[in-house]
Amino acid sequence: METYKKLLLANRAWVEEKLTIKKDFFEHQYPSQHPEFLWIGCADSRVAPNEITGTELGEMFVHRNIANLVIHTDFNLLSVLQYAVEALHIKHIIVCGHYGCGGVHNAMTHKNLGLLNKWLRYIKDVYRYHAAELDAIGDENARFDRLVELNVIEQCRNVAETSIVQKAWKREHFPYIHGWVYDLHTGLLKEIAMMRPDEDINDIYRFDFDNSEEEH
Ligand SMILES: [Zn+2]
Repeated sequence: METYKKLLLANRAWVEEKLTIKKDFFEHQYPSQHPEFLWIGCADSRVAPNEITGTELGEMFVHRNIANLVIHTDFNLLSVLQYAVEALHIKHIIVCGHYGCGGVHNAMTHKNLGLLNKWLRYIKDVYRYHAAELDAIGDENARFDRLVELNVIEQCRNVAETSIVQKAWKREHFPYIHGWVYDLHTGLLKEIAMMRPDEDINDIYRFDFDNSEEEH
């Protein structure tokens, strides 16, 4: 059997299972979504957000890219973030990286990967910001793990530094920003950072808002 067909068959079986448990399952899903969480994670196939967090359909708004980066010129991510914060009034944003991340690992090398060079460049920048700490770690695997963690922390800061989040913090005192790392060996999530709405961000990134200001 062509491998993709098993996905369609699995879908049929999944629909039947849901309908057996609840006859109006899909009608119930349809009208609107009220997720409490925004997940910003890696595109890695082993880090499936709903599965590893036990969340159901409708509970989590999701954005994924290589190495869970938050880049201020990425209109895809910014659009997701704006909708999640301003329309869905998300309460928690989770930036989740994972040990063994291929994107982070490649960024530690000198490999020329074409277009990917431009994406992974942002992780090289994270390395440069923390070069003193990272270069002091002799073991390469330990250094790799630490860069995964530092990358998550930096991406949390990038989320907080958007005008979208700063405005929501000022007006709604939400969302909280969480930095997590998933361990492929154990399946466990590790909390490594949390930013509350009263968090001080570096002053140079702070925006002033008046009542007429609606720009991002
Ligand atoms: Zn990854």
